[in-house]
Amino acid sequence: MKTITLIPGDGIGVEVTTAVQRVIEAANVAIDWEVVNGGETAYLETGQYIPDELIDSISKNKIAFKGPITTPIGTGFKSINVTLRQKYNTYANVRPVKSMSGIKTPFDNIDLVIFRENTEGLYCGIEHLVTEGVAEAIKVITEKASKRIGKSAFEYARKHKRKKVTAVHKANIMKISDGLFLDCIRSVAKEYPEIEYEEVIVDNMCMQLVMYPERYDVLVLPNLYGDIISDLAAGLVGGLGLVPGANIGDDIAIFEAVHGSAPLIAGKNMANPTACILSATMMLDYIGEESAAKRIRQAVEFVIKEGRYTTSDIGGTATTKDMTEAICQYIKSKN
Ligand code: NAD
Repeated sequence: MKTITLIPGDGIGVEVTTAVQRVIEAANVAIDWEVVNGGETAYLETGQYIPDELIDSISKNKIAFKGPITTPIGTGFKSINVTLRQKYNTYANVRPVKSMSGIKTPFDNIDLVIFRENTEGLYCGIEHLVTEGVAEAIKVITEKASKRIGKSAFEYARKHKRKKVTAVHKANIMKISDGLFLDCIRSVAKEYPEIEYEEVIVDNMCMQLVMYPERYDVLVLPNLYGDIISDLAAGLVGGLGLVPGANIGDDIAIFEAVHGSAPLIAGKNMANPTACILSATMMLDYIGEESAAKRIRQAVEFVIKEGRYTTSDIGGTATTKDMTEAICQYIKSKN
């Protein structure tokens, strides 16, 4: 039995990670969950945002499933998410964004996979007040990190027979930093001649995605642009309640939804569990449980398409627990 670290997190975290545990159990995959919290909840319990026990658990198990963590805005400490991604060098943040039948949006043919560089860029955490009224943040782009995210994107495209990789940048203005990012992705692209490669400036990319999302396939971006474009893309397919994600490194992987702790709906049994459940299917694929992952995805698709047990963010009236239960029932009916 595989031991996996489970970080329930803050806000809606407990509700949506409980849904993940129930669904995986329904699919008959035995996982020994090592539950260790991080974030605000952990701070209140232990006085540490990232308790030593959490660090030890992820280092030992190498795989974690993480609920969202609240990061207070503008106060003096670094984001826990960014800290974990940097500490474990989970350099590829992979976010598949796909239209789902049953959810009305202006487009029904979106099928994107976003590869966001996860360890540097403007999120490297080097920020200071130069003098009163003047603040400075440093953006770090390295050849090593840019090439490895490029390689992850192209390897994924090759493995999953995707047609095109688009590098997103602002090298017209940030000529040296984004210029280096682009040079690195270009050099990786040469090793994959069967995959079409193109470059789009990030502001144009925003417009392209809200007008012609079907033209795009795999996107590779530096950290900040990847963060922003992920939420934009989530909006195109029905919202943050639907989009999964994974932070993948060479030997450690942390799976989590794109969304945050949604404090306004926390504790109300209203959160859509789909994003976390689909992140769990990415985790099951990663540990070789592809068949269970597939069954869970089919169950999610069925429940959303049927529309009887869906949460309010996607137009339904069901609770988190009802929707989770409906997904579990479908899985059990196919076991
Ligand atoms: P958010 O993703 O928490 O919420 C944005 C909007 O989406 C809200 O309207 C919310 O209700 C809705 N939403 C999000 N997830 C949903 C779900 N599963 N079901 C239904 N609706 C959902 O973003 P925010 O409000 O900008 O951030 C809240 C907190 O979360 C902040 O402290 C932020 O730093 C943190 N955050 C954490 C992560 C993470 O842990 N990976 C990611 C993003 C934000």
